[in-house]
Amino acid sequence: MSANELRFQTICQITERQPVAPKVPSRLEDLWAVDVFTLNKMQACLPKEVFRSLKHTIQTGGKLDVSISGIVAAAMKDWAISKGALYYAHVFYPMTNITAEKHDAFISLQSDGTAITEFTGKVLVQGEPDGSSFPNGGIRSTFEARGYTAWDVTSPAYIMETDNGATLCIPTVFISWTGEALDKKTPLLRSNAAMSKAATRLLKLLGHTDVAPVNSSCGAEQEYFLVDAHFAHSRPDLLLAGRTLFGRPAAKGQQFDDHYFGAIPERVQVFMQDVEEKMYRLGIPAKTRHNEVAPGQFEIAPYFEAANVASDHQQLTMTLLRNTAKKHGFVCLLHEKPFAGINGSGKHVNWSVGNATQGNLLDPGDTPHANLQFLLFCGAVIRGVHQYGPLLRAVVATASNDHRLGANEAPPAIISVYLGSQLEDVYEQIKNGDVQGSMRPGLMNLGIDTLPEFPKDPGDRNRTSPFAFTGNRFEFRAVGSNQSVSGPLVAMNTILTDSLTWVADRLESELAEGKSLDAAAYNILKEVMEQHGAVVFGGDGYSAEWHRIAVEERGLLNLPTTADALPMLKTESIRELFVKTGVLSEKELESRFETYSEQYIRVIEMEAKLVISMTKTLIYPAVLRHLSEIAGAIASLKTIGLPFETANVELISDLTSKMMTTVGELSSALAVHDFATTEEHMQYCAKTLRPIMDRVRSYADALEDEVADDLWPLPKYQEMLFIK
Ligand code: ADP
Ligand code: MG
Repeated sequence: MSANELRFQTICQITERQPVAPKVPSRLEDLWAVDVFTLNKMQACLPKEVFRSLKHTIQTGGKLDVSISGIVAAAMKDWAISKGALYYAHVFYPMTNITAEKHDAFISLQSDGTAITEFTGKVLVQGEPDGSSFPNGGIRSTFEARGYTAWDVTSPAYIMETDNGATLCIPTVFISWTGEALDKKTPLLRSNAAMSKAATRLLKLLGHTDVAPVNSSCGAEQEYFLVDAHFAHSRPDLLLAGRTLFGRPAAKGQQFDDHYFGAIPERVQVFMQDVEEKMYRLGIPAKTRHNEVAPGQFEIAPYFEAANVASDHQQLTMTLLRNTAKKHGFVCLLHEKPFAGINGSGKHVNWSVGNATQGNLLDPGDTPHANLQFLLFCGAVIRGVHQYGPLLRAVVATASNDHRLGANEAPPAIISVYLGSQLEDVYEQIKNGDVQGSMRPGLMNLGIDTLPEFPKDPGDRNRTSPFAFTGNRFEFRAVGSNQSVSGPLVAMNTILTDSLTWVADRLESELAEGKSLDAAAYNILKEVMEQHGAVVFGGDGYSAEWHRIAVEERGLLNLPTTADALPMLKTESIRELFVKTGVLSEKELESRFETYSEQYIRVIEMEAKLVISMTKTLIYPAVLRHLSEIAGAIASLKTIGLPFETANVELISDLTSKMMTTVGELSSALAVHDFATTEEHMQYCAKTLRPIMDRVRSYADALEDEVADDLWPLPKYQEMLFIK
């Protein structure tokens, strides 16, 4: 079957397809966390003392008492076996954005040849996957390939069920045999602990005596596309790169705004319910689902949780989305920009910090101007974002996210903070040294008698800001849909740690000089706004004017590509930040730069190779067939004496030769390998390879508009996006 026959067949199949029959919805109570080894389950099966010790570690972050691990392991094994598991896996998160797992059986052979199930405390607490193939950015040489996984008690173990059986999964950190972090979880745990320490110190200075450990929270909104599997599988670019490298935008895109929040197509809704049921079983609090802006694009958001657990749950959610899609005949695309010309996908990371005794420390209450504690915490964030803006840019820098940031659909590659009108006004008053009060939001009268008046929010939303205050949390909107949320969370926790320490130092010295707490706090806040107020921006982040003002007048950095952003990790101030907070050593930070840079280069080189092979083996032959058909027709017309206009043939032939010349250019460009530094190599990818790839695409896309539809070898945008 030729590729285009496959296209037509697929369309028929989809048209006739019935959605996978929806299951009878279960009651939430029957689903919730049934596959999780929760505190309640532990309490039911562990001796009192053991449970108390474990709970203490989980809730307060104290050291794990290794002597109890054997008892916990046995109980965990019994529970897992009762759920049908024969295997367990240490799950970890290497520096790629994937989730890795190594499976082992609960088996122990006895001397008499029989086998029993076994799971010791030592095995629960520590594993040793042969991790030599995971990127380590130079931390390990191949002769020191040992990598260890260690149980993260604060993230619960769970059963992962697939059609092939159940596996007990244990979330772990992944470290080298010299103790360096090789994963995304270790720095997240460290950053949370560092932030807790700094926040506790400040809360005590503010007069609190009872201060519970402070934790960061995260609620991640995940955008994704669904494409019918037949279409996706007949496109090598979607299969290998996760995005279309070719494809002429359809006449209809998102210009009618008729998809956003529209009725969810039935086949998609059945898929969503399936995903949500699995999430509930795993204790992931799925909360919101809707159609997104682009046709074929959707969003799922859970209720927020402790950052470490939320991060593990986010990884699981991405796995569930991908795997469940297969069952429903879809491919789930988590790529940041699967289709040119329509919106890409992001992951908004909602983040706040708080504890059991003081609550959410980013909650302004009704009178923010008088809420010193809030103002100091929020002020610390403002200072951190200004001081370390380039770090926030670097942690969202990937080859795929570059297609979004800087385009007018996602926040710009310039990091600024949006506070909302009420808060911006309060901080402005502080800066001017004259605090009068908070603007009252007032009531909204809808002019409809039957509807109650409801209170207005104190600030509007601003979709164009990369880092926005949204009522009681910050929303980091520049994160890519395919990314682990750990990197962004580490960055936010770490810059906050640094800023809180600075605030506490300043407060201590002002108090020592005999100032009142109020006077000292306002002084510090005034200083924050004078030094760092340039990062606060409430206008249109997409506008050219902002790009100019931000760079020329406010001194903010515009880092449009990953090649510009990643080297920021090597700057003195970011290195110092990580080292002094203890979140990453110099060597660990360096290894992250190396790993992420390498990934960037690999993605672009792989895509370039794919552009070459798809042009040569799919597009060029199709165009030649088309040309030879027309040439035949022209020749026949001539023999019967009919004149024929050949301008169109010439156009096609011209586009084709330009396309093939550019492919040749791309091949030569790919052969260049001598770069003095990684930075230079990245710039080459951004400034040389990508533009040539784009040029090849522009010719191919123009040809898509010329070549007979029945000869075109790739599923088209209109088919992939509109046929569900
Ligand atoms: P929107 O699309 O309007 O921004 P959603 O309801 O889709 O909002 O998602 C908001 C996310 O923010 C949810 O995951 C929600 O649980 C989370 N969230 C709410 N409050 C907090 C908080 N204090 N800290 C962290 N995340 C929060
Ligand atoms: Mg949302």
